[in-house]
Amino acid sequence: MKMPLPSSDRVIVAVRVRPFSQREKNFGSKCVVSMHSRTTLTVQDPKNPEHVKTFTFDLAYWSHSGFQKDKDGVLISADPTSKFAGQRDVFHDIGRGILDSAWQGYNATLLAYGQTGSGKSYSMIGFGANKGIIPSVCEELFQAIENQGRNQEYQVTFSMLEIYNEQIRDLLSRTKKLGGLKVREDQQLGFYVEGLKSVPCENYAQIEKLMEQGTKIRTTASTNMNTSSSRSHMVITIQLKQVFLDKALTKQSSINLVDLAGSERQRSSGAEGDRLKEGSRVNLSLTSLGNVISALADAAIGKKVLHIPYRDSVLTKLLQSALGGNSRTTLIAAISPADICYEETLSTLRYAERAK
Ligand code: ADP
Repeated sequence: MKMPLPSSDRVIVAVRVRPFSQREKNFGSKCVVSMHSRTTLTVQDPKNPEHVKTFTFDLAYWSHSGFQKDKDGVLISADPTSKFAGQRDVFHDIGRGILDSAWQGYNATLLAYGQTGSGKSYSMIGFGANKGIIPSVCEELFQAIENQGRNQEYQVTFSMLEIYNEQIRDLLSRTKKLGGLKVREDQQLGFYVEGLKSVPCENYAQIEKLMEQGTKIRTTASTNMNTSSSRSHMVITIQLKQVFLDKALTKQSSINLVDLAGSERQRSSGAEGDRLKEGSRVNLSLTSLGNVISALADAAIGKKVLHIPYRDSVLTKLLQSALGGNSRTTLIAAISPADICYEETLSTLRYAERAK
C-alpha cells in the first residue's frame, strides 16, 4: 500500500496484534480479537460475548494468516482474510512512508502506543534478525544516500532521549543525569532540549552502535532507580539535511521515532506514593499526547480548533514541531489478542480511534 502524503496533516493509524505470549497460553487465554480485512478488526468482551466492538483503521496487522491453531491448540486468527504481517510488511507500509516524507522535506513521526508487553519495542526496534522499523528506516536511509549522485550532499544526525516523570535523560551521554537537561523555547525553533547530544552519523553501523549504547543506558538507569523502562518514553530523532548543490537548495527534515511508556492504568492496589505519582505522570503525558493528536485530527478534517495543547507535558512540547505543521504522523497501536488483556486492548483501540 502506498502511504498518503501529509497534505492533509491527517494522522495515519495502524493497529498490530501480537501473537499469544507463553503466559497467556499458560492461562488458557482465549482470542478476543479478530480481523476482517486489512483495516477492520473486532474485539469481543470475554464476560459478555455478544458485546462486540468494531474498529476501522488505516492499517491492521495480524501476526498470523488465515484460520489456524497454533501448536498449543489456540485459535490464532478468526478470519481467513486477515493477513500475516511480519516486520518487513510493516516496514514496507509505514517505514517507507516515513522515508518518503523525509526525502521530500517533511518531518515524519512514528509513535508506538500500547500496554507493556503488547509489542511496541518489537515493532519499533525488533529483536535479532527480526529488525523493527527504526533499524530498517536507518539502514535504508543510508543505502539511499550511497546511491545518490554527486550533486547532493547529506548530513544525518542522531539523538536519543528518554522522558521519565516529566524529566529528560540524554541516552547518548553517560555523564548527564536525569533531569539535568531543560526544555527551552525559541521563537523560531519552538521547543528544544538544551545541551542534548546530537551525533553526526555517516553510516548505519554508527547508528546501530549508538542505539545499543542508548538502550544500555536506559536499562541500567531504570535498574538503578528500581523502576521499569516501560514507564518512560523513548524518543529517537534523526535529522536529515539534503543539500542540492546544482540548485542551491537545502531541505531539512526530522524523523521522530517514539516508543511510548506502557499505557496500562495504574490501579490503586500496588501503586502507592512515588509509584502512583509516576503512574499519573505517565498518564498525564499520554493523555496530553492524545489531546494534541485528536486536536490535529479535528483540524485536518476542517473542524475549527482554537488551541492545540502542546504545553501540557514535556513529551508534547518536544513533539510540537514533529506533530504539527509540516509533518506526517503515524501511530501504531500495539495490542494482545488475549481475553486477559481485553480492558487494556479496548482502551488502546479507543485511544487510537481518537487520532483518526
Ligand atoms: P512492549 O515494548 O510493548 O512492552 P515487546 O515489544 O517487548 O512489548 O513485546 C513483548 C513480547 O512479545 C516480546 O517477547 C516480543 O518478542 C513479542 N512480540 C511482540 N510483538 C510481536 C510480533 N508482532 N510478532 C512476534 N512476537 C512479538
